[in-house]
Amino acid sequence: MRLQPKVLTTFATQKPVFKAGAMKPDKLAIELLRPEINRPSAWSIPKVLRALEPDGIGGEVDTTTVFLTGAECPFRCSMCDLWQYTSLGNTPVGAIPFQLAQVLKPESSNGRRWLKLYNASNFFDPRSIPTEDLNAIAEHCSPFERVIVENHPRFCDDRMAAFSKAIPGQLEVAMGLESIHPNAIEIMNKRMTLADFDRAVAKCQCLNIDVRVFVLLHPPGVDQKEAVEWTRNTVAYAMERRVRHVSIIPVRAGNGWIDRLIDTEGYQLPTVSMIRELYKTFSRSEISSVGVSSAGSTTIEFDLWDYENWQGGCPECRDSLVKHIALCNREQRILPQDETEIRCECTV
Ligand code: SF4
Ligand SMILES: [Zn+2]
Repeated sequence: MRLQPKVLTTFATQKPVFKAGAMKPDKLAIELLRPEINRPSAWSIPKVLRALEPDGIGGEVDTTTVFLTGAECPFRCSMCDLWQYTSLGNTPVGAIPFQLAQVLKPESSNGRRWLKLYNASNFFDPRSIPTEDLNAIAEHCSPFERVIVENHPRFCDDRMAAFSKAIPGQLEVAMGLESIHPNAIEIMNKRMTLADFDRAVAKCQCLNIDVRVFVLLHPPGVDQKEAVEWTRNTVAYAMERRVRHVSIIPVRAGNGWIDRLIDTEGYQLPTVSMIRELYKTFSRSEISSVGVSSAGSTTIEFDLWDYENWQGGCPECRDSLVKHIALCNREQRILPQDETEIRCECTV
């Protein structure tokens, strides 16, 4: 099945209508389908998560993630739900340092610590992170050995190079490759070609900036039967470019456009059995040991956030799979599934 939704707008009601087999979605249609929510203020106190993250060399690092609130990304990827964590209008100057000051208390460097500054947008877009604030933000980064920010490949500019120089630690830029499937690239509306992605990776590596890549499991536009294979191919593509880290993320519902695709086009979210199959595929392929391929070493992590909402399976096999993946994430090797406790044969 090829998913090529067409979005038409019925102007009398302003309700979009999907038709199969036509063009990709556009910005207006994606926005019209969004659920109504109250957008947060750029002067709110950010959420913080502290967790251990695999360092790719056998250890784990105490990692603090600060979920910053600022202006929305100018792109309109059809599967994106990050806009709900962004504020309306450009981020005011001073708001991001204000947020960081609320949650990062001045401290000296004590042991290995990493910092993720995730703004649900692009860190080097001046509408989201004002240029005037970059030095103040860099000061907050000083206790951290590694600082990870998220950014679209088309925003990898001189501001990125300057910020990398301004922080004492290692900068890592996280970018969405999402999928190398040609149909998915169109339907996701990411406004990025593989050549754009490759150029951004090369630029980062030239500047000694590490690269983290987000890869989706079963993005719209990929036949369900081929979803696992294309995710594996996309992970391999990223590894061949010697990125430091790959995060695999199952597509989620809730942004409006994905929900409409489920209702009208027969699109199915990734299932527990699909995730199990992905891990079996890894163990059969050249990605036989997580993070090691002929091209070099990459940390591979499967995103367990929101696992309660994975489709299919029963609570028992979902829990077993989560434990199995957590172990693979931590140890950075693919474990045979019979070594862990996946006993359930449920394939719903
Ligand atoms: S580039 Fe990232 S933040 Fe922007 S719309 Fe796409 S997925 Fe969302
Ligand atoms: Zn089961």
